[in-house]
Amino acid sequence: MTLEAADGVIKYRSQRVAGTFAQPSEWVQLNAARTTLFDLGLIGVTGQGVGFGNLSLRTQGDQFLITGSATGAVRELNAQQYCLVESFSVAHNTVQCRGALDASSESMTHGAIYQTNPQVRCVVHGHSRVLFDALLQGNAPRTAVDVPYGTPAMAQAVTRLVLGQTALPVLFVMAGHDEGVVAYGADVASATRLMVETFQKVLSHDQDRHHRR
Ligand SMILES: [Zn+2]
Repeated sequence: MTLEAADGVIKYRSQRVAGTFAQPSEWVQLNAARTTLFDLGLIGVTGQGVGFGNLSLRTQGDQFLITGSATGAVRELNAQQYCLVESFSVAHNTVQCRGALDASSESMTHGAIYQTNPQVRCVVHGHSRVLFDALLQGNAPRTAVDVPYGTPAMAQAVTRLVLGQTALPVLFVMAGHDEGVVAYGADVASATRLMVETFQKVLSHDQDRHHRR
């Protein structure tokens, strides 16, 4: 495998084996959480047909199960629409995965979190204009505005951010990835709850402001 450098940025490379893998028991919970996030619009597809948002679950070591690429339009996924990331390299921006679909280029962000904090079992990445703006205006942890998604620089920025957090779960904003927010925690429930509850709080404040006008 060769790496191509364009403008000094190492291009993301995913190598996939079209095999099957054992489904962890928490998969049902993970998939239900995804449907909840889809219904809230935190995972979905843009008007241009580009999918956004993904979530993952640590299986063993630094391996993790993640939603496959180009699944954003589907409300309820099946097991074949997930893939297992078996290994990855933040430095080389490469991912080796197993399954019927490719792993998203945002897999590296998930991998960086699992690698940095062994207590983390679940990572949730969603997109929301209101949540993104609210977190940036507040004092939420964040990656810098000049760090774009899907790059080794993002994985490195996320590693630094995770090292700076002592408690779980954590919600942070990717200032350089428009609308991008990430929650991670010790299990599916705590990571998902933090993102959903914060999102709903922001929405209700937003509505209050409109009512008072
Ligand atoms: Zn994203």
